[in-house]
Amino acid sequence: MKLSKESIERLRELLARPAQRIVILSHTNPDGDAVGSSLAWAEVLRTMGHAVTCIVPNKYPYFLDWMPGIGEVVVFKTDTEGRAARAVAGADILFCLDFNAISRLENLSQTIESNTTAVRVLIDHHLSPGEGFDLAFSYPESSSTCFLVYSIIEAMCGTEAITRSMAELLYVGMMTDTGNFAFSFLTPELFRAVAVLVEKGISIPDIHNSVYNAYTEGRARLFGYAINRKMEVIQNGTVAYMSLLEGEMRRFQFQQGDSEGFVNYALTIKKVKMSAMFLAHRKFIRVSLRSRGDVDVNLFARRYFNGGGHKNAAGGKSFVSMRETIDHYVRSVAEFAAEGHLD
Ligand code: 5GP
Ligand code: MN
Repeated sequence: MKLSKESIERLRELLARPAQRIVILSHTNPDGDAVGSSLAWAEVLRTMGHAVTCIVPNKYPYFLDWMPGIGEVVVFKTDTEGRAARAVAGADILFCLDFNAISRLENLSQTIESNTTAVRVLIDHHLSPGEGFDLAFSYPESSSTCFLVYSIIEAMCGTEAITRSMAELLYVGMMTDTGNFAFSFLTPELFRAVAVLVEKGISIPDIHNSVYNAYTEGRARLFGYAINRKMEVIQNGTVAYMSLLEGEMRRFQFQQGDSEGFVNYALTIKKVKMSAMFLAHRKFIRVSLRSRGDVDVNLFARRYFNGGGHKNAAGGKSFVSMRETIDHYVRSVAEFAAEGHLD
């Protein structure tokens, strides 16, 4: 990954003016990469003397509660004091991290659109970024936004600027978005970055335990139930899907984040190339898609579920019933396969 020198210079100029009011935004259902990159970038900006507010549309999962500084993240959905709206209204710069279009902020989108004067900067690794950014660091070949933020810090200030807490935050996103260093874009540069983070004193086993071994008993039992009772395999054993209704989630004291990783599990079956998870919410069904190798679920999500993401991990939404959603999925898979996309 080669960062544009010109963009780094523009960013440097943008941040040269002292004591600016900056808002860092990340996506709905914030994950380790969203929160890690936001908080690490916030720390860099504060060190430069800026005032920073991190905002996410809804709550991050409980297994990220331990992350350094997470208490300062304003959750728009439960922000009764209007902190998010005030910060956005007064912002000189809006940084958009780990998502590629303002619409992905859902309920928060309107608040953002109301500030028409702030400079908008995108720092993201999803495919097909949206319009309307004054400066864009859009690098789909970066395995995580945390690695991209690391690279920007390295280019702009040098790695001396990275503190231990920043190193922990950045490692979380690098680890979670690569499936613990098992997916794509595992470049030598990424591992060099990890080496620097280790030099800063992070404990990889501690971070791993804090993120992956911190679930509730209900989550473990829901996982067993979902795999045993709700997983279906179609298309001659090459495509899987799983669904959870609200009542089923309640039965296992579901908390946001509990279904994390379920959709990946079907891909542990040798023949399965594509996997889907349908999770019922009050107003819609959230669709998660994963694939192996050349099977392009970003394309599938765009075409059939009005969504997007990455080639091997994407998502979307469905506004019809679970039955209709699943029927639509099965039909779409057949069409996708007939066009050779599952070969
Ligand atoms: P997840 O399944 O973990 O929720 O999402 C996988 C990937 O797909 C993430 O990179 C996420 O940003 C993207 N994604 C999930 N839902 C949507 C959506 O509704 N629209 C778009 N454009 N991307 C999505
Ligand atoms: Mn990410």
